[in-house]
Parts: sequence; structure tokens; C-alpha cells
Amino acid sequence: MKILMVTSEAVPFAKTGGLADVCGALPAELEKLGHEVTLIIPAYRQAKSAGLPLQETGIRFDIPIGSKIVGGTFLKSTLPGTSVSVYLVEHDDYFGRSGIYQDPSTGEDYRDNCERFVFFCRAVMEAIRLLDLQVDVIHANDWQTGLVPAYLKLEYSAVPGYEQIGTLFTIHNMAYQGVFWHWDMLLTGLDWKYFNWQQMEFFGNLNLLKTGLIFSDRLNTVSPRYAEEIQSAPLGCGLEGVLQARRDVLSGIVNGVDYRDWDPATDKHLAANYTADTVDIGKAHCKAALQRELGLPEVPGTPLVAFVGRLATQKGIDLLTATIRDRVQTTEVQWVILGTGEPDYQDPLRYLAGRYPNRVAVKLEFSNKLAHQIEAGADIFVMPSRYEPCGLNQLYSLKYGTVPIVRATGGLVDTIVDASDAAIADKRATGFRFSEYSELALNESLQRALSAYSQPELWKQLVRNGMTQDWSWSASARGYGELYRLTANSVRRGLASAR
Ligand code: ADP
Repeated sequence: MKILMVTSEAVPFAKTGGLADVCGALPAELEKLGHEVTLIIPAYRQAKSAGLPLQETGIRFDIPIGSKIVGGTFLKSTLPGTSVSVYLVEHDDYFGRSGIYQDPSTGEDYRDNCERFVFFCRAVMEAIRLLDLQVDVIHANDWQTGLVPAYLKLEYSAVPGYEQIGTLFTIHNMAYQGVFWHWDMLLTGLDWKYFNWQQMEFFGNLNLLKTGLIFSDRLNTVSPRYAEEIQSAPLGCGLEGVLQARRDVLSGIVNGVDYRDWDPATDKHLAANYTADTVDIGKAHCKAALQRELGLPEVPGTPLVAFVGRLATQKGIDLLTATIRDRVQTTEVQWVILGTGEPDYQDPLRYLAGRYPNRVAVKLEFSNKLAHQIEAGADIFVMPSRYEPCGLNQLYSLKYGTVPIVRATGGLVDTIVDASDAAIADKRATGFRFSEYSELALNESLQRALSAYSQPELWKQLVRNGMTQDWSWSASARGYGELYRLTANSVRRGLASAR
């Protein structure tokens, strides 16, 4: 099938989060399955200076934005290691800035974000015609692309070359909705009649995520469990009604892992490489190196429990900090935290590291290398998330023989099998899960994990069960292939019944 993937981020061109990883990795796997994928993203300064070859297409276009006409052009590149064409929508006033969504010097969103992504979405619609792209399905992602399905349905559906195109919309996180004041409706160029609570309006504002959810043929998100959860409050973030109404076309596919980057057998950042057969000795090396690096006592038998991630409310940092504080003096555990984020979460962690330097190491920075070293050197990885659309660290942990403790939410439910007696007996257990968002529940799981850690045969089994699983992109890409097929079929059926 011919897929046009529309996204505001894709590795290696531009990245602020997991969306970029998905849109950088999925096209390569789809290509292997025989799909023809084209990617289209904004030509941010970051994308233009990423050191990738860029060609001028020489094709210029004009876009109506409110009462203005704004010109732009397309640059062309290729996704490294593939033959996937990448088009970059260029207009430097919008995209040639130091940040992607925010001014890095103030941390504030750009005030014209709505205008920037109206421009991008209209440019995508024009690209199909001007670049003569053959498209069966447009795959749009997150609020930045929410207008694409609306323009297709409301303005282009009768334009030759566009009639047969279907739209799949992927939600990567319901908490980010692209909400703007009502006057920005004028920038979209769409009739005010669509500004109603059943379509583009949300409590008096324009909501671009909702727009995408309403006008797309099919919807999906990044895990089956999250697809269920967002159909009710609080995880639907106010759009649960829309998602319930569209549940027949909503599904979930877990993101894959790029094992070229995340495999302890080949990882260049590690003190020692290892596989499921050599994990005992390999992990011992990595653990000692990590302890040395972080200034913790080099004791092999003390369980090392780690967290890597954003210090944000979503990630359950309050629960984690309270648990460390309450157990640090009484429980023989070393705690390692790597993260950046909200100052309110940083201070208590900094305090704990200062007060208990032999038990707690905290690095408040972004370090990919250290993230790899922690995955390899830790025994247990903890993710007490309030919500988690998919989550990647638990999947890395499985591969690195680091047993995860997770809260039972979103993708964490779909990927981690709790070490119940039954799951241990049939060798399916890969970690520990708790449901209630409470310190008590996290503590209970931690206790179970520490007890398992003290039983070497059981621990070896848990480690092996995780390490031998395959969470690569190939299975997920097959899932997307199936969704594209369903999307295209629904358009054909719609056209047939309209005749
Ligand atoms: P989310 O996308 O919600 O932040 P994920 O678990 O899906 O969470 O992915 C987060 C990714 O970012 C992981 O690859 C994780 O290792 C990485 N990461 C997060 N914080 C840091 C940090 N401080 N240093 C290095 N890597 C980090």
C-alpha cells in the first residue's frame, strides 16, 4: 500500500519525544513488508542542520492563512538506511526557529503554534497534488496533524486524486491536545459551522486533537490497554466521549524497540556485552561499573533499583520519592535515578542523594549513554506511572535482564506479565505489577521483587523470560499494515455506498 506518514517529528530529523522514535522507525519496517511509504515533516532548523542530504524540489506553493497568503516550498531527503522519501515543508518564519514547539530560552510555547500547524497541514494537502504522490492512506499523528483529516473530508474529497484516500490517526498521548482560542478558527479557513461541540470545539476553544479524532476514518493509539483507558475519565482527558463514540474504529498497537540501539549483546556504551546465556557475568560487570561511575559502594549482592525518565507527574515521581525516603534506612537497596524535569521533583531527590550517598545516586541530566548503562547495570527497573500510553523503558529493561516493577496502566499492562504463582509456573512471568496508585501498593511489589531477587533460581528465570522476548518493530509494523488495509477498505465501501 502507498502510505503518506504525516508527523511533526521523526528521528533523525527532529525529536522532542517518543513520537519521533515511532515515525523514524516504523517506515523502515513497513518498507520491508512491501509498503511504499513517504514521510512529510516541517523543515525545522533542527531538521535542516541534522547533517542529512537535502535537495531543493523547486516546487513553491501558497497557502491561505486567515486573510494572508503565505508561501512555502518543499525540500526532499531520504530516511537513512531506507528508500523512504522524506519531504520537508519549508517556511523559515514558522519553522526556522531554535525550538520545535517552544522557545528554549523561556520554556513557553510559541504563540503562533496554531498558525504554524495550520500551514503545515495545508501544505501536506497541497503536497499530494504538487509532488504527484500516489496515496492510499494518510497516517496522521497527534494534534499537530489533526487538521489533515478535516481538510481531506471537507475540502479535498472531490478533488481528482484525493477521492480514494483514507485516513488513520494515531494518538501518542491524550494529554497534549493542541487547544487554542476560538479566533484561531479563522486561521484554519474552515467554516464556523464546524466549530461546535461535536466537531472542532472544546469548551469554547479550538481543539486540534479532537478535530483529528472526528474526521479520521480510523484511530489507534500505542497500546491496546491505553485504547481502552482513554474511553473514560480521567485518561480520556475530556475527550472520552468522542473516543467512546468512535470505539468501533479505535484500536491499539504497542510500539516496537529499535534493537540496533538497545541490545546488550552489541551496546557500545556498556562495560561488558552479554546475552541471555551470559547475563550473570555480563550484568555483574555492568553493575560494578555503574556503581563506580555513580560513587555507590561496589557491592555485588545489594539489589540496585533504577528509574530513568522525565521527572513529570505522569511518571509517578512523588510515589517513587516517598518510597525511597521511607525505605532508604531500613532496606538494603541501592537507588539510581536519571531524569530531567520539574524542579519540585528534583529538590527532594537531590536531598536524598546528599543525605544517603551510599544508598541513593541521582543524576538530574539527559544522558543517553548513562540511560544505557543503567539499563544494563540495574537489577530492577521501576515505573510507577500514573498513566503510560506505551512506555519504552520497560521494554528495554526486559532485553537487558533488568526486571521491571510497573504500575498496571496503559502499555505497561500489555507488556509486563506479573510474577503470580501461575505465571511463574508456566514461565511467562517477566516482572511485578501493582494496580492502586499508592505507596503501599508500590512497596508491596518492591517487597515481592526483593524476595524473588533473594531466590537465585527464580530470579534467573524471570530474567531469562524477559530477555528472550521479541518486542522489535516487525510485529507492530504488521499491525499497522492491517490497519491501513482496514482504512482503505472502509473508504472503498463508503464510496461504493455513495454511488
Ligand atoms: P515518554 O515518551 O513518556 O517520555 P518513554 O518510556 O516512552 O517515555 O520513552 C522515554 C525515552 O527517553 C526512553 O528512551 C528513555 O530512556 C529516554 N529518557 C528519558 N529521560 C532521560 C534522561 N534523563 N536521560 C536519558 N534518556 C532519557
